[in-house]
Amino acid sequence: MDKFQFAERIRKFRIARGLSQIELGERLGVSNRAVSKWERGEAYPTVDTLGEIAQALGVLVDDLIPREEESKGEKLSGMGMESIKELYRVGSGPSSSHSMGPEKAATLFKRAFPDAELYEVTLYGSLALTGVGHRTDFVIKRALHPSENIIKFDKTRSDLPHPNTMKLCAIKDGQSIGEWTVLSVGGGAIQILGQEGYTPERVYKLDKFKDIAEYCEKNKLRLWQYVEEVEGKEIWAYLRTIWGAMLGSVEAGLHVDGELFGGLGVLRKAKYLYNQRHMDESAETKQNRLVCSYAFAVSEQNAAGGVIVTAPTCGSSGVLPAVLRYITEKKQLDTDTILHALATAGIVGNLIKTNASISGAECGCQAEIGSACAMAAAALAEIYDMEIAQIEYAAEVAIEHHLGLTCDPIKGLVQIPCIERNAVAAMRAINAVNLANFLTDTRKISFDLIVQTMYETGRDLSKIYRETGEGGLAKLYL
Ligand code: SF4
Repeated sequence: MDKFQFAERIRKFRIARGLSQIELGERLGVSNRAVSKWERGEAYPTVDTLGEIAQALGVLVDDLIPREEESKGEKLSGMGMESIKELYRVGSGPSSSHSMGPEKAATLFKRAFPDAELYEVTLYGSLALTGVGHRTDFVIKRALHPSENIIKFDKTRSDLPHPNTMKLCAIKDGQSIGEWTVLSVGGGAIQILGQEGYTPERVYKLDKFKDIAEYCEKNKLRLWQYVEEVEGKEIWAYLRTIWGAMLGSVEAGLHVDGELFGGLGVLRKAKYLYNQRHMDESAETKQNRLVCSYAFAVSEQNAAGGVIVTAPTCGSSGVLPAVLRYITEKKQLDTDTILHALATAGIVGNLIKTNASISGAECGCQAEIGSACAMAAAALAEIYDMEIAQIEYAAEVAIEHHLGLTCDPIKGLVQIPCIERNAVAAMRAINAVNLANFLTDTRKISFDLIVQTMYETGRDLSKIYRETGEGGLAKLYL
């Protein structure tokens, strides 16, 4: 949402309340010129003032600024999709919304106000509640280093424009010389309130699986060919880099052991799993052990702040590489085949991101791990050269059986339940493809329907199960 949308709303509510700009200004303790500037879209109030405006107008902050999920609702009307490059990003874990986004915000803010003597950053909502475990404070301090900085955690404020809100203030000679309110909206992307910022182009005109499938069938294209048609041949160089980073994260994670940071006493297990032999090692148990060891490897790297690929997020970054590395070894696949699978998975992840959410803070873990599982299932189905209807069914099954999955990480660390959950989802993706092989003709639920269902389920989830560390395992584990 930009300042012009906000301007329209504040003006509408003020008039409905029968207040002049002067009267509203008096209630807020600001000049009528300030109100006028907000209503013309020339300025944006601070996050503190937003709550006061809502109170003065007798509305909720959400009425002034729709939450991200409400904005997503507006996107359902065929506005197209961004490049899959916006989905797959190489970066440092453990969380795209809690570490990658805030780190980017702090870096840009410092660049905008290089003369500040002190940077004061206040974290709200999920960033305040699980920020320490997700290393939010650590990455912000690193971005602002060596300048003096203070990080504050406001865990009480609830009238926020987004669950992941942060305020950055630059101070010089004891005075504020600049202030931003930033929303970390998922996948490492940020939105600076009141600034147009970088808005990725919607290169895909189609944004429903049904429409894409029909287009591909009519033009005799596979999903990866549709990606190439839209994004150009240069997409393969990008995906090659992504695949290299994925393999790098698996490899790195398989060679480390010891305890993960954070005080939970979680030991790395990827190396152990990789090197063990099941007491009754069959082809099936070996597959399970290896796939899980790869998923653990990436997830443990992520938990340790290592380099991973968002697929679609940091917390769920282990699922897709685990399945792809396993099948590559098993079938001795060439890289092009894997790149086609990544493109297919990218379409699936992009559809979920566009029509629902890939953020645990918005829709719970179903949006992260469920989405990753659907992407992995689609990728595997592409590798098996399955029909588009089978790819759809595999992805649909993968999400359907993650519906309602809560996000309740203990101590706000992306460790329990996150690491194991990546391994379980990787196995589930393989299972979904096996079902799709036999049952696609009998299916009743479309991919588009399950994405919509996941979104509505996520919106109905209590806040305590959406990356706040206030419910479930996070509450009961002692
Ligand atoms: S529980 Fe799921 S959504 Fe929440 S932090 Fe862990 S992986 Fe991410």
